[in-house]
Amino acid sequence: MIIAIDGPAGSGKSSTAREVAKRTDSLYIDTGAMYRAVALFCLRKGIDTSQPDFDTYLNGLSISLKSSESGIAVWLNGEDVSDEIRSSTVSELSSIVSSDVRVRVKMVDMQREMASEALSRGGSVVMEGRDIGSVVFPDAEFKFFLIADPKVRAERRALQMEEKGVPVDSRALLDEILARDARDESRSTSPLIRASDAIAIDTSSLSFEEQVENILSVIHGNG
Ligand code: C5P
Repeated sequence: MIIAIDGPAGSGKSSTAREVAKRTDSLYIDTGAMYRAVALFCLRKGIDTSQPDFDTYLNGLSISLKSSESGIAVWLNGEDVSDEIRSSTVSELSSIVSSDVRVRVKMVDMQREMASEALSRGGSVVMEGRDIGSVVFPDAEFKFFLIADPKVRAERRALQMEEKGVPVDSRALLDEILARDARDESRSTSPLIRASDAIAIDTSSLSFEEQVENILSVIHGNG
């Protein structure tokens, strides 16, 4: 079984998807983390997607996701970069590099491969991102599209950062989220879009438990 959870930044996707994976005993795949790793790779190499030899660089990129105590650890060419990929600079750059077709093809191939490995062992997969229900797994058994008011999304992100001791400028965060949404929605390849058969859930006024329960009740046939 594949459960696809898509939606914009701060819609509650990641925490919800992680919990749904835990409670359904599924493999959790955070595809945003993969695009973030590509962005960090570009930053470190000082390259961008317009580089004539970008393909060669891309061939030398390896990403793996490993289970960790906090949910998932992201490894870039053999190094754990789980914390580094969460910076604002990487967030911004991830939504730029993710509009490159070559990057998308490579990530989607990896995502399908990770899922098919889990499925072949008889397991289930919860995959979250922007294009899972529309492009990566259009035939997924369950598709959800989480949305929330942009101000609520910015507040959630601010809270997460404050908890980590990172100083926050709320206005700048809201601007950053809106800019990222606009880029993700307007790109020509795999834009952020609700698949026509995805169930939309507005999480603006839902508690975390309610978000998780909403999804689980659909999966268990009570939704
Ligand atoms: O989900 P997260 O905010 O970590 O994703 C970072 C960026 O990666 C997004 O802004 C988006 O541009 C890109 N992304 C994507 N397709 C996905 C997941 C993420 O383009 N499936």
